[in-house]
Amino acid sequence: MDTIYCQGCGIQIQSSDPEKPGYTPKSSLEKENILCKRCFRLKHYNEIQEVSITDDDFLKMVSTIRNANGLVVHLIDIFDVNGSLIKSLPRITGDNPIVLVGNKMDLLPKSTNQRKLVQWLRKQAKDAGIKVLDVFLISSIKGHGIEELSSQIDYYRKQKDVYIVGTTNVGKSTFINRLIKQSTGISEVITTSYFPGTTLGFIEIPLGGNASLIDTPGIVNRQQMSHYISEEDMKLITPKKEIKPRVYQLNSEQTLFFGGLARLDFVKGQKQSFVCYFSNLLPIHRTKLEKADHLYENHLGELLTPPNEKTMETLPEFTESTFKISQEKTDIVFPGLGWVSLSGEEATIRAHSPKGVAISIRKSLI
Ligand code: GDP
Repeated sequence: MDTIYCQGCGIQIQSSDPEKPGYTPKSSLEKENILCKRCFRLKHYNEIQEVSITDDDFLKMVSTIRNANGLVVHLIDIFDVNGSLIKSLPRITGDNPIVLVGNKMDLLPKSTNQRKLVQWLRKQAKDAGIKVLDVFLISSIKGHGIEELSSQIDYYRKQKDVYIVGTTNVGKSTFINRLIKQSTGISEVITTSYFPGTTLGFIEIPLGGNASLIDTPGIVNRQQMSHYISEEDMKLITPKKEIKPRVYQLNSEQTLFFGGLARLDFVKGQKQSFVCYFSNLLPIHRTKLEKADHLYENHLGELLTPPNEKTMETLPEFTESTFKISQEKTDIVFPGLGWVSLSGEEATIRAHSPKGVAISIRKSLI
């Protein structure tokens, strides 16, 4: 096939992988003025579709943002902070100011302490070397916090461009589509522009004056659970609705399995409650610590599911971390899956997760 370029963004057209940039179905190749699927949807539906890019392509974009002058809005998934926080962000953004936005608030129980959540997000960002001007919590799907955020973006950007950055699946498209819907009265709100040296067109939404809101492609992060597990399993572990806490009273030397994707051993301590915040569809299995290894080795993918068969092929082995809890209500966080809240009584906990998906602890959010 001749090399064809999209009339919208300039990307090379391909018909083999709908998930990759530049996709156009074969049936459309005969037309004049060929657009890639992404530009087609933009043009006809004013709707943004996510494409993901490789780390290499992303690095090529780096200098574009670093040399630009504007506000960076970093969208993350509060359900998977570790997986969605872009650790290399300061390298990418140079001296440009950053606003951190936690999306998917609607999934957290209503009793979540938002102030503590904001504090924790600030700390996570700081630990990763990311200096943020401000932190906001929103739900792109429900629309919570969007109005406040857009007026704050308008304030912080100081007439300049706004770059929206995020890893795949944080809800960037949903967020931007909502912003577009909010900016009423403008037809042709979106244009695409082609950045030389990258395989991608950024999407620009005029903001008034000469400034634009610029959507950048989703970055794939290998620390994300979604990187390792099948689409079907992703559906199970991604909460669709507000999470209902599940409470277990455990004695020491008992174990909880979260499907077969994570495991928590209560190694030492008085009997106490373990409040589990995971997708309501993820089965939790309780067993004796002494039986846990055997169960895992012999029943992974059956009794302990997800993983399903497909995920089993790619799922890395478990690694473990040990935490000593005392005095303070503490959450043990399994990135991309959920967390377990402990009351603060003394406890020694051993937590297991697939290698590469690091477990952490924080002050309880609830
Ligand atoms: P992108 O890859 O960053 O563009 O993410 P999408 O906008 O495609 O969203 C990824 C997934 O997260 C989709 O299943 C969305 O429905 C979901 N999602 C996006 N925003 C929210 C939100 O505010 N709350 C919830 N519960 N889900 C969301």
